[in-house]
Amino acid sequence: MKKINKGFLSSLLIIPILAISLLLGNSIQKETITQPIQTIPPNSSFSIQFIDVGQADASLIQCDNHYMMIDGGNSEDSNTIYTVLKRNNINNLDIIVNSHAHEDHVGGLSGALTYATCDTILSPTDNFDSKAFENFKELADKNNGIIIPNINDEYSLGSAKIKILSLNIGEGNDSSIVLKITYGNTSFLFTGDAEIPSEQYLLSNNADIKANVLKVGHHGSSTSTSKEFLEEVNPEYAIISVGKDNSYGHPHKETMELLQKENITTYRTDIDHDILCTSDGNKVACEPYAMPETTNTKQDYILNTNSFKFHLPTCQSVEEIADHNKQYYNGTRQELINQGYEPCGICNP
Ligand SMILES: [Zn+2]
Ligand SMILES: [Zn+2]
Repeated sequence: MKKINKGFLSSLLIIPILAISLLLGNSIQKETITQPIQTIPPNSSFSIQFIDVGQADASLIQCDNHYMMIDGGNSEDSNTIYTVLKRNNINNLDIIVNSHAHEDHVGGLSGALTYATCDTILSPTDNFDSKAFENFKELADKNNGIIIPNINDEYSLGSAKIKILSLNIGEGNDSSIVLKITYGNTSFLFTGDAEIPSEQYLLSNNADIKANVLKVGHHGSSTSTSKEFLEEVNPEYAIISVGKDNSYGHPHKETMELLQKENITTYRTDIDHDILCTSDGNKVACEPYAMPETTNTKQDYILNTNSFKFHLPTCQSVEEIADHNKQYYNGTRQELINQGYEPCGICNP
């Protein structure tokens, strides 16, 4: 993944602006120049799936058949992530972003890296004392390792641009990478679990946080999404990734009331489940999206031909199976049970 050469990009943008000015005459010229029209190539496409992983975060971004994943849910969501990538035939991700090291964000990224390779893996740290993070790091090291980005770094994903706006403003949740994805004239702001200190940093540094879609910080907690911040982002849509009846009481009432008062169409994974946003470069549409059923459909399993147990490919105990007893299987759960196999008690396939 190459960083974008800004000079080259802005010179590309001047051509369509000039052409439009010539077509529409001088009256519009001033406006066109202050608000440059971003063009996207023909046959381009862009979408974001917010994957329902309960009290956790996971998003899959597609642009021109390039893919990026931001967070992967908890460790127990690894198989969901693995299955989403497999079903969509995504065996390489251009970019993985681990917003911060907490398990509900990093855990399921192991599932992504079990199925797919990845060119660029970003995280605010390369060291965190948890099994979930260690698993992620181990798999990241089999690719190109973890990169800790810098503020203002830019990456490309097909014709979309990704800009890192902040990270490591504080410890824990405030270490979250905040980034903005721009596609044509539309944009999407991802804040991980960043809280008010990160929001204050962005506001006081005049960061360009305006976006059509806000992935609401920290599962809708009132320790994020200050009124000032929300008004500056000024989104049409807000997406909250949150588990039903979670012990934190997320999303908090204050956040929901604020979103309602500001008239922002809000979707939440505990009610709407998977949510899909698409953009044509000028207009964004978001709506709940029914992912194809996975039960009774073919899946990948790993068999232990000695113990007659079957596992999900993302199960920790797969590593311990001796190579001569390990067998890959693609089929249904029922087929394996009919053959006398028993589901593993750890990964519960
Ligand atoms: Zn979280
Ligand atoms: Zn967190």
